[in-house]
Amino acid sequence: MATKIYMDNAATTPVRPEVLETMLPYFTEFYGNASSIYSIAKESKKAMENARNQVAEGIGATAAEIYFTGGGSESDNMALRGIAEAYATKGKHIITTQIEHHAILHTCEYLEKNGYRITYLPVDAEGKISMSDLENAVCPDTILISVMFANNEIGTIEPIKEIGAFAKEKGIIFHTDAVQAVGHVPIHVDEMNIDMLSMSGHKLGAPKGIGALYIRKTVRSTPLIFGGSQEKKKRAGTENIASIVALGKAVEMAVAEMDVETKRLTTLRDKLISGIMEQIPDCKLNGHPTDRLPGNCNIAFHYIEGEGMLLLLDAFGIAASSGSACTSGSLDPSHVLMAIGLKHDIAHGSLRLSLDRVNTEADVDFVLEKLPQIVQRLREMSPLYEEAMKNK
Ligand SMILES: *Cc1c(COP(=O)(O)O)cnc(C)c1O
Repeated sequence: MATKIYMDNAATTPVRPEVLETMLPYFTEFYGNASSIYSIAKESKKAMENARNQVAEGIGATAAEIYFTGGGSESDNMALRGIAEAYATKGKHIITTQIEHHAILHTCEYLEKNGYRITYLPVDAEGKISMSDLENAVCPDTILISVMFANNEIGTIEPIKEIGAFAKEKGIIFHTDAVQAVGHVPIHVDEMNIDMLSMSGHKLGAPKGIGALYIRKTVRSTPLIFGGSQEKKKRAGTENIASIVALGKAVEMAVAEMDVETKRLTTLRDKLISGIMEQIPDCKLNGHPTDRLPGNCNIAFHYIEGEGMLLLLDAFGIAASSGSACTSGSLDPSHVLMAIGLKHDIAHGSLRLSLDRVNTEADVDFVLEKLPQIVQRLREMSPLYEEAMKNK
């Protein structure tokens, strides 16, 4: 069945029509290499600098502090490895959290193999780090704090402003993976004392394979990719102009629409969450009830498997995501759900429905109509459920 209702916007979003339209001329008409000096190349350069301004404005930075990359993962790698190398003589200790995206966690593992010490802060049952844990983790050789702005699975928004103020007071560089937050939550790098910030195009209506890293002008960092002198020698490679233009446009639009869209999505999200909780017994909201992304709904259903829910939802044309990593070839439940203290079996029964601008109230109503039947059907087949009912 074709997908009718797309509720996996935290995984990726469709390119917005206005964004596609803005980028198209840069494939065919203005195909010049931005480093060249003839007229069509100047068009490319101009478009790229315009996009740099749009991205900078969206997060309260200056254009000179924006570096275009090949996506969120590359931005995360560039931030961590760039700081680790540039500040190695100052120290080799980095603080992050247990719930980061693998682009951060696997980079940290790599750094650990190369002589760095990493502290992975725990989170509470709602997914937040504690400021006192952070304060206690700081060592004289701590060079970087990297805490995600908002979690991609459970939607919890971290206390970024407090972390920024603390990092500034301690003179420690603060990076945030804001891939889920840009365009969805207000961000101001100066007011929040953020020194580095990662974003990704495809989570906000631009194509896959484009991202940006904000690096505060006072921060040093080494490049990940060497070659030509593009991006002030911090990221070599002929610029992906069309996608850069798309990222600029997508950020500009998302920020302009944020107030209205946040209100709309929060209403839909809360209707979805309360509708599920009221109709379906034995389930639990994952993540923070209010400090969460406007489009994120993540719920653990006892006695059943997320995979089963995904298949039955797909049969109704609904696209969603589960709380286990089975689909990605591993039987381990998500590290995020483990970190908030869920038991294995309950984590496996988690479902993430992530809403965005493509979703309507009719979508939410349809899911609220189908999901209770799906959960009931799966529970009727579940030995765990049978046993639990016997014991009640
Ligand atoms: C999607 C995502 C990434 C990776 O971004 P890509 O552009 O897909 O490489 C990193 N961090 C978070 C929080 C994400 O949601």
